[in-house]
Amino acid sequence: MSVEITDPAALSIITFPHPTLRYEAKPVRRVDAALKKLIARMFELMYEHRGVGLAATQVDLPLRLFIMNASGQQGEGEELVMINPVITKPRGNEEAEEGCLSLPNVHGNVVRAKTIHIHAYDLSGNEIDQELSGFEARIVQHETDHLNGTLFIDRMKEGAVNEVAGELDALVTDFRSRQRTGALPEDSLLIQRLGQWESSYC
Ligand code: ZN
Repeated sequence: MSVEITDPAALSIITFPHPTLRYEAKPVRRVDAALKKLIARMFELMYEHRGVGLAATQVDLPLRLFIMNASGQQGEGEELVMINPVITKPRGNEEAEEGCLSLPNVHGNVVRAKTIHIHAYDLSGNEIDQELSGFEARIVQHETDHLNGTLFIDRMKEGAVNEVAGELDALVTDFRSRQRTGALPEDSLLIQRLGQWESSYC
């Protein structure tokens, strides 16, 4: 079955409470030229929105992959594509403020492991097998969470979430009004469409 939307220009960053953000992404079994183009477009979107990481689920793709560049600057730092990432050996704890391109205007402190081990595959199928710490470890944990349908607000303390309740309400109101006016399909159709991607790449 072919995918309906393969034009990378059609990709955009989805925002809370889009149901794909709560979807558990499926392992990628195949990387082809079309998927590579979509990933290149993900980098463009990440830099345009001044992000340091972007998960496939954030561009409405139900695939276990994310991209990152801790520098946040195109042409600087290291661009990484992590396909089918698995985190092991979390060590230590560190609290720091996070934000998310799918939750504009929302920020809050999250406790993450200070160091982790990441196993994944790059775009060429090479294994990535390394220890990460600090900011890079935080990005990998935040983005891997996305692939499991988890958002950083889920990991904030209850009191801190209450402080951003107004911002979250505004996002919900905006999203639901776009559905009411027909600018966006209903949740059930949005989730149904993901099956096309899964049959192509999973
Ligand atoms: Zn995020």
